Amino acid sequence: MTSRDKRKILIVDDSVVIQRLVQARMRSDGFEVVCLTSAQDLVAQCQTIVPDVIILDIDMPDVTGFEACKALKDDSTTSQIPIIFLSVKTGTEEKVRGLDLGAVDYVTKPFDPVELRARVRSAYRTKYLLELLEQKARVDGLTGLYNRAFFNDRIEEELDRARRYNGTLAIILFDVDRFKRVNDTYGHSFGDVVLAEVAETARFHARQSDVVARYGGEEFVIILPEQNAENASYLAERIRGAIEELHLVHNGERVPVTASFGVSSTAEIGYENSKDLVDAADKMLYSAKDGGRNQVRVASKMLCPA
Ligand SMILES: [Mg+2]
Repeated sequence: MTSRDKRKILIVDDSVVIQRLVQARMRSDGFEVVCLTSAQDLVAQCQTIVPDVIILDIDMPDVTGFEACKALKDDSTTSQIPIIFLSVKTGTEEKVRGLDLGAVDYVTKPFDPVELRARVRSAYRTKYLLELLEQKARVDGLTGLYNRAFFNDRIEEELDRARRYNGTLAIILFDVDRFKRVNDTYGHSFGDVVLAEVAETARFHARQSDVVARYGGEEFVIILPEQNAENASYLAERIRGAIEELHLVHNGERVPVTASFGVSSTAEIGYENSKDLVDAADKMLYSAKDGGRNQVRVASKMLCPA
């Protein structure tokens, strides 16, 4: 997500005078301003510049603002960038056309700088809130890990990729041992602390390319692209050991926390569907619980016939 201190405005206007005017006003508002004199290849330009808001002229040689707006809205990498038209065209027809093309606003020249600044701020605010919502929809509120819905989408994508390139994919499913007892004994808010710490431990040890998600309740899942079950079991073992070492204290008393792990991979289970992969890891997780908890169990071909 764009951080608030790096917000960037792109001005596309064939008039350098207008560029300078807008630039001067926006800079004092803390925006970084980039200017282009033509809307040619604007999609590619935006992919490089990554602006938060675009102020777009309509009358330009080569490519008009309307054409550029349509191209930006048609491309998934640029369609979310708010566009404000800045034009000498004052007719209702132009304004309606601009807004229908997906622009968030339409300001006429000569413009009132105070008004333009307010409109840019408003467009930026809307974009920021939309991004926040989008991020919230795939993040688990308690742990900050990806949520189950995101995992469900991602596992299919990763499985597709592994199938296409004939690669491997492993998953780790793990569950905090006797979590109900932790909640009952120390209260739910302490239980929440335990989940957050366990989540952070898993995230810390996972690779950048691994997808760590909260599967539900006290259960977590990690997708490991391009890894086999053996590699996954090493990671699981590292996380298991780190959870065991966590220093969680309630009223001055250390509360020991452990977790049980099940590992499976496409090498044993195949690429057919994600459910088989999750089921196999789940079976191993239960076998780890049965075996006395605080351990890692790995699916093998023998245990999981294709
Ligand atoms: Mg112009």
